[in-house]
Amino acid sequence: MTHRAMNFNAGPAGLPLEALEETREALLDLDHTGIGVLEHSHRGAAYERVHQEAQGHLRALLGLDEAWSVLLLQGGASQVFATLPMNFLKPGQRALYAVTGGWGEKALEEAQRLGDAVDVTPMAKQYRRIPAAAEHRVEAGAAYLHFTSNNTLEGTQYDAFPTGGGAPVVCDMSSDILWRPTDLSGLSMVYAGAQKNIGPSGLVVVLVRRDWLAEARRDIATIFRFATHDANGSLYNTPNTFAVYLTRCILRNLLRDGGLAEAERRNRAKAARLYSALDAEAGFYTLPVERPHRSAMNVVWRLGSPELDARFVKEAEREGMFGLKGHRSTGGIRASLYNAVTLGDVEALAQFVTAFARRNG
Ligand code: PMP
Repeated sequence: MTHRAMNFNAGPAGLPLEALEETREALLDLDHTGIGVLEHSHRGAAYERVHQEAQGHLRALLGLDEAWSVLLLQGGASQVFATLPMNFLKPGQRALYAVTGGWGEKALEEAQRLGDAVDVTPMAKQYRRIPAAAEHRVEAGAAYLHFTSNNTLEGTQYDAFPTGGGAPVVCDMSSDILWRPTDLSGLSMVYAGAQKNIGPSGLVVVLVRRDWLAEARRDIATIFRFATHDANGSLYNTPNTFAVYLTRCILRNLLRDGGLAEAERRNRAKAARLYSALDAEAGFYTLPVERPHRSAMNVVWRLGSPELDARFVKEAEREGMFGLKGHRSTGGIRASLYNAVTLGDVEALAQFVTAFARRNG
């Protein structure tokens, strides 16, 4: 059997084995066509079926009707947050950003390059919490409100989503899309880099309301207009066919295995197990995030010194657990618990957390 390590990377992250195995077959021969998935024309029936299935699975999982466009694009979440103001920030308007972490900062910077954009959450920028709804200083007539539902770097996560005071709300859901059933009815656009909870890197999912798309600017490059991709079924130019195939397999299996309700049950159990192991050794491990705002996807903590952090990571690797080093901007330890991480993986990590503290505390 193939050797598979326990993978807690933040993205690209571990992917479900069954879908990877299916993709391995399709690499050489897609659905008995004698042509591998990488070699099929994106205009041919074999690939178009895959493409439409991937879009259909996203619709089914998130309850999206035809009022929404489901786009499978390239360029990553970074390109989407750069093209968002190109499409939707018009002269004389202001875009609002709830900056609750490093990725929100980057998104705001891109908007400020193009027009008037402000941070509406004047909170301490150590990012240890998510501001309450009333702390979002939304103003009437704004172009949109942008927020990040889960801060991958800082390990904070929104529970209830903010409202835009009448303005369309846009959510960067890169690191917590598909982790639980999610009501998107209050939002106008959602985007997520695939490489965490959806599939491989090289693909970004954009969900956008068609009535909002109709109002978007037309004076930008064709390829950067979300409306272009909507009008072409997300086949305006050559998509990342391989990434879409693997994603199709992952999403189909997610639906088959109980959908998002079942995913939420598993994800909550995983997060609860790890946080409780860390809390039980609270003198040894420091968890910076305020409890109600702890992320179920990215768990961050630190030990007494950077040297001890490094030893934790090294010894965990010896036990087959990888991807635990914190982001270069934050240091410390981070365990990402996306859908493909099993309860068994988390149980092993939780036991290691306990044993390491007892050995070194
Ligand atoms: N937003 C969030 C919340 C992220 O976690 C990331 C990637 N870690 C990005 C945006 C940027 O994604 P990409 O690398 O696909 O541009």
